[in-house]
Amino acid sequence: MIWKPSSLAYTMFVFVVVSSTCVAQSRVVENATMDRSSRLVAISQTLSDVVPIVIAHRGASGYLPEHTTEAAAFAHALGADYIEQDVVLTKDGVAVVMHDVTLNSITNVADLYPQRAVDGKYFVFDFTLEEIRQLSVTERDKKGRFPQNTGRFRIATLEEHIQLIQGLNESRKRNAGLYVEVKKPAMHRERGLDSSVEILRILRKYGYENAEDRVFLQCFEEPEVLRIRTELGCRLPLIQLLSSTPTKQHIAEIAKVADGIGVRIEAVVAGAGEDEPNITEVVEAAHQNALMVHVWTFRTDSLPQYSQSADQLLDWLVKRGRVDGIFTDQPDAVLNWRQIANRMGRLKGPFHLLRNGESGK
Ligand code: CA
Repeated sequence: MIWKPSSLAYTMFVFVVVSSTCVAQSRVVENATMDRSSRLVAISQTLSDVVPIVIAHRGASGYLPEHTTEAAAFAHALGADYIEQDVVLTKDGVAVVMHDVTLNSITNVADLYPQRAVDGKYFVFDFTLEEIRQLSVTERDKKGRFPQNTGRFRIATLEEHIQLIQGLNESRKRNAGLYVEVKKPAMHRERGLDSSVEILRILRKYGYENAEDRVFLQCFEEPEVLRIRTELGCRLPLIQLLSSTPTKQHIAEIAKVADGIGVRIEAVVAGAGEDEPNITEVVEAAHQNALMVHVWTFRTDSLPQYSQSADQLLDWLVKRGRVDGIFTDQPDAVLNWRQIANRMGRLKGPFHLLRNGESGK
């Protein structure tokens, strides 16, 4: 079954967009939500008509060491709609693209700087950019494809990633977007580092400033998402990441600040029995609050136990679960599925309605 939004669903959607601006509980949040309808219309201009959007998780990390410029370039070549950058600051305040705040898992830091561990951990923000430049990066899952200590793969800065993606966009006449995560902002602040301010400065420098720009900004820490929207005055599309399945009430609260939620696959398809997926109420509640839902992480080589195949899981997530975006280590797998699925009948999310001039009807 392919989901086509009914006029009732659309009416509900617009109603929620408008009404959610009227129920803000504090003046700060009110200011953020006052802007919401116009922001959602702007976001809808940027998003493709088709769902799901395909987000290359840490680049094409199923094929190359995560977050390297090589993994980003390959994700671009495969045709990902968005390419993810997790961001951590160095000791000298430079934004580098790293998933962990420690260097232990994917670099040879212990070989190069054996004296620098704190309780066995090597924190990014204890090293300068110049020191981090010396490190050699390898794959996280240690499948033996990319030997350590070759120096072939390196940690790169956020600016280097943006320059690469913008250059490739120009070369290939595409517009792959950025999907930037503010990692552990509270932990950064304890070290006197303000990662949100630095990330927003860099994004502005490269032309990412408004709701219609091709970027998502994501964070797990809810106070920081509120701060980014209000205190820092950010108009970019914001995604609230959630480590557990949210309640309807929680989703309604998030909708006052963010434009979408990022949840685990299991928060949408909780399980399955006799080839029938158990779909939760998360997407429906999110859409009723005009929030997008992006799920993580789709991996062809690590499917949930309840699913029989990658294509079956995608059918369940998109056609049944109606998610709007998918983080994946293998962007080509989701893109191939999407192409075939769209031949059978176009898959559309709720946001295309605003763009197609149907609002106000
Ligand atoms: Ca991330």
